[in-house]
Amino acid sequence: MNLRTQLDFFHDAGPDVPALVAAGALFVVNHSGGKDSQAMLIRLIEQVPASNLLVVHASLGEVEWPGALELAQQQAEAAGLPFIVARAGKTFLELVQHRFERYPHAPSFPQAGNRQCTSDLKRGPIEREIRRYAKANGFTTIITCMGLRASESAGRAKALPWRLNQSGSVAGRTWYEWLPIHTLFTSEVFAIIREAGQVPHHAYALGNERLSCCFCIMASQNDLRNAALHRPELYAKYVALEESTGYTMHMSRKSLPELTGLSVRQAQRLHELNTP
Ligand code: SF4
Repeated sequence: MNLRTQLDFFHDAGPDVPALVAAGALFVVNHSGGKDSQAMLIRLIEQVPASNLLVVHASLGEVEWPGALELAQQQAEAAGLPFIVARAGKTFLELVQHRFERYPHAPSFPQAGNRQCTSDLKRGPIEREIRRYAKANGFTTIITCMGLRASESAGRAKALPWRLNQSGSVAGRTWYEWLPIHTLFTSEVFAIIREAGQVPHHAYALGNERLSCCFCIMASQNDLRNAALHRPELYAKYVALEESTGYTMHMSRKSLPELTGLSVRQAQRLHELNTP
């Protein structure tokens, strides 16, 4: 079967999922452990048979919120779906240190414009695992599903909900990327999780708006402060890296203590006071 155009299988209402299933496509759920991934998987399970689904989590190691991998794994396994962890050969902190040693006069932290962290730590390892799985299991049509939503940002609003992955569509393989919950609002995402009888990651109950790296280059001040209060040992590592490289992590170019309003010592102290 030769599937090679951007709009193959796509109609006004979205991709023709039954036709893709009939064509033997593999739907890969890119699951961060966050609310959007969780709601997306709930929705996909309603449309796609388990035999055509795979769940992949890109593990960020110590820099991601504890429990994110486990939530993704539990949700996948509860639905009887295969689950794969994709790991990069380096961590976020190693990536920054490496950039500093190689280019000491250029910003050491990934920039929001190119997001080397996303490509090196998530997209690359995930695509490698998908290629392996598809080859081992005879899938030649792949649909990577991601939980990006238009209401999250102007950039995400412009993202195409369905597109051909040109670079991945080689060697007899056709690869699409789909945003199944692109039109949903945050309240709808939480409603889907609640109505499915599931609970989102505990970081939301702690006040987080989003979930991935605890200290994301694009995170809100709210989420950065929350991470500093709940992961003070990791906060200390990021602050030390800002100090040793002379560059700031966040896209605002403000330092982490400026953004969180907390020194490392204050974060540690508040964490101790709030830990039973
Ligand atoms: S969550 Fe933020 S810091 Fe982490 S990999 Fe993604 S863009 Fe980079």
